[in-house]
Amino acid sequence: MNASAIPSERLAALHRSESERFIATHPRSMAQAEAARAHYLFGVPLHWMRDWPGPATLAVERAQGAALFCADGLRYSDFCLGDSGALFGHSPEPLAQAIAQQAERGLTCMLPSTHALAVGEALQRVFGLPVWQLALSASDANRFLLRWARAATGRPQVLVFDGCYHGAVDDTLVDLDPASGTTVRRPSVLGQVHNHHAFTRVVPFNDLAALEAALSRGDVACLLAEPALTNFGLVPPNRGFWPVARELCRRRGTLFVVDETHTLSTALGGYARAHELNPDALVVGKAVAGGLPCAVYGVTAELAQRMARAKDSAPEGHSGIGTTLSGNPLTLAALEAALTHLHTEANYAHMLAIAALLQDGLLKRVHAAHRPWTVTRLGARLELQFMPRTPRQAQDVREHAQGALESFTHLFMLNRGVLLTPFHCMMLASPATTPADVERLLSVFDELLAALAA
Ligand code: PMP
Repeated sequence: MNASAIPSERLAALHRSESERFIATHPRSMAQAEAARAHYLFGVPLHWMRDWPGPATLAVERAQGAALFCADGLRYSDFCLGDSGALFGHSPEPLAQAIAQQAERGLTCMLPSTHALAVGEALQRVFGLPVWQLALSASDANRFLLRWARAATGRPQVLVFDGCYHGAVDDTLVDLDPASGTTVRRPSVLGQVHNHHAFTRVVPFNDLAALEAALSRGDVACLLAEPALTNFGLVPPNRGFWPVARELCRRRGTLFVVDETHTLSTALGGYARAHELNPDALVVGKAVAGGLPCAVYGVTAELAQRMARAKDSAPEGHSGIGTTLSGNPLTLAALEAALTHLHTEANYAHMLAIAALLQDGLLKRVHAAHRPWTVTRLGARLELQFMPRTPRQAQDVREHAQGALESFTHLFMLNRGVLLTPFHCMMLASPATTPADVERLLSVFDELLAALAA
């Protein structure tokens, strides 16, 4: 069979029939979506929830382990896992218990609870860095680290990779104009009025020459980077990229900040630990406390001293860093339970084995069907990519974008009890994900390939 793309009219017809199937089988989700429009913008508490393909957003009745149940009583094998927040499964028992216990002992006091010390020790044990601060989301943690980096170095610029996503962080919501090599507005960002061209540089991922040039003026406070791009498909680093990139930063006095929020999937303690990247600072959000809103950022002892000096030498008043509920007792209790019972070798051994099984099954089917697609994996995270080879830069992903095929794939799978992550075809394996979940996904994938070939 030839490797050409699926004709758009055929995909549109297939999508229509899946939409009809969704409407017929999800009357309660349909009704909630309609009624909720009176109370929520786009009918949902967060407008991203409307970005799932399909006639209505699924109304969730409950989520447990690697399963999710919708208002219509249907069960799903959940490979989206809240786009990483539930990487360790939904409501794992030790976490649910810790939250329940703390719920009766105070939720927020703007004081450290007695869990704080154990949490600090556990953060160092799991992630390696000694000094930590808490935030409520990875977006916040990244924003705060950019401020600390600029304050500690006295330098104005930050550097990111093309195709990056570090959350709702204005400085990083920019693109690279390939023609001029300059930073440009990301056209989708709403209400953006600041000129980030002046203070954020963007270079292609895996491009050491561009990185070196961007650092060469000695005015970059930090490079903020995911170890692999995970928000533009999945773009892994070239072999040997990070040791050189890290050395370039060191030579230019630029702080190397790793955003481990998604690459936590790689191994216990994340990619940076497993691959000895030795960052100056590290951000982990989403799943770090098992999905309870929490993010952490850790720094070396040396950077901690520079941060303290910057704070001590600033006038009294607002630092622009932190939010009132950060580090609250509920978060600390959840974080302690998560670091003790979820971030474990045993959990990762299971997650990685399940993800490898899934990758193997998908690749076998892709090859047998002669589709020009690939599957890229980073530990427990994998991505079905509608392109012949693993991409090396964001531009490779742009050139192979197949939005219609992606959204059809999501809806087709959802209609058959399998959830993938919207916006791209990402799958996560949790400690609760079983070989039976993998079998389920693979048999639906067989059906999908047959539908596309018919
Ligand atoms: N960093 C990375 C790498 C992310 O993928 C995301 C969200 N997808 C964030 C930060 C922001 O996380 P949050 O939306 O929880 O603030």
